[in-house]
Amino acid sequence: MITLHDLQFTPYLSEQEIAIAISEVAARLNADFAHKKPLFLGVLNGAFLFASELIKQFEYECEVSFIKVSSYDGIQTTHQVQQWIGLQEDVTDRTVIIIEDIVDTGTTIDTLHELLMAKGCSALHVATLFFKPSAYTKQVAIEYVGMEIPNRFIVGYGLDYKGLGRNLTQVYQLKQRKMTNLVLFGPPGAGKGTQAEVLKEKYDLVHISTGDVFRYNIKNETALGTLAKSYIDKGQLVPDEVTIDMLNAEVEKNPEAKGFIFDGFPRTEAQADALANLLSGKDTEVSAMVALEVEDEVLVSRLLERGKTSGRADDADESVIRNRIKVYYEETAILKNYYQQKDRYYGIDGVGAIDAITERLSTVIDAL
Ligand code: AMP
Repeated sequence: MITLHDLQFTPYLSEQEIAIAISEVAARLNADFAHKKPLFLGVLNGAFLFASELIKQFEYECEVSFIKVSSYDGIQTTHQVQQWIGLQEDVTDRTVIIIEDIVDTGTTIDTLHELLMAKGCSALHVATLFFKPSAYTKQVAIEYVGMEIPNRFIVGYGLDYKGLGRNLTQVYQLKQRKMTNLVLFGPPGAGKGTQAEVLKEKYDLVHISTGDVFRYNIKNETALGTLAKSYIDKGQLVPDEVTIDMLNAEVEKNPEAKGFIFDGFPRTEAQADALANLLSGKDTEVSAMVALEVEDEVLVSRLLERGKTSGRADDADESVIRNRIKVYYEETAILKNYYQQKDRYYGIDGVGAIDAITERLSTVIDAL
């Protein structure tokens, strides 16, 4: 592990892996541009090492130049190319090969492409050591790619973090703070709320119960509360759009969280997709769906019992309770499959003493 300024990075790609990737790009360039006298145009500063290694391996006549551009500010791409220096060569009717260290959102390549096409070059190609397909938002074809990488921040081999790290011979990635994000799952009355209270203390996690947030809004007579009440009172789901926005806001309130317990969310596939998106933006994911499995008749009697003291209208009426259970099986239970396919589903027997059930949950969580 290395430290650059305030951040820690762990090894990601070895010198050998980088060398192989460069040789593969070089072989393709030798095949495609043998007698075309290309002008290699390296994009400074990041591409200096890649450009030098790549061009050394190009076996035919070529010219080499550099252009300087910068679009990063710390580790966030600014979506704005900030400065240009260079391009003295006449590119009219030339074959130009842009050499980039990394193509991320594509802002740099896109503006450079526009600039060079406007200057009349006849053919324009892009060779990049790294490409982040999931971050790329532009149309320009990225033809010569050393390695596709996921959307994470890397340094080394020409790439920097606030000016440092360009001289590293390997590539490092930002050390991920591993979060534990649990989806606590199960039908109404399965004991999610009770277990969440215990688990949040035990694992130092932030507990977000969408039902509780709705009830808080109802109590405080907010616009969200009024809207949610019309669904909750009938035992129906609040529309996805409203619920997802609310959940996003709750997560954003806790930027320092070590992880979350999502209780009552997601309840639909759209919500599960939204959660995956939200977490991937934070470079993390759902660690596990832990599902409390309890028979329907046990649920009904538990909820009727809770209704005597909870003050919840949706617990007091057996037909509303049965509707909530029905909605669970019709709309929510499919999520078991969703997380099973990702190998993240853990079913747990939800009948027994509270402590015993916590034990069963902890066994799963400790092994994550
Ligand atoms: P709960 O406290 O989890 O039993 O939720 C109580 C009620 O709030 C549910 O019956 C729904 O009407 C609403 N609700 C809670 N979470 C969600 C969600 N993720 N999506 C839609 N509606 C929800």
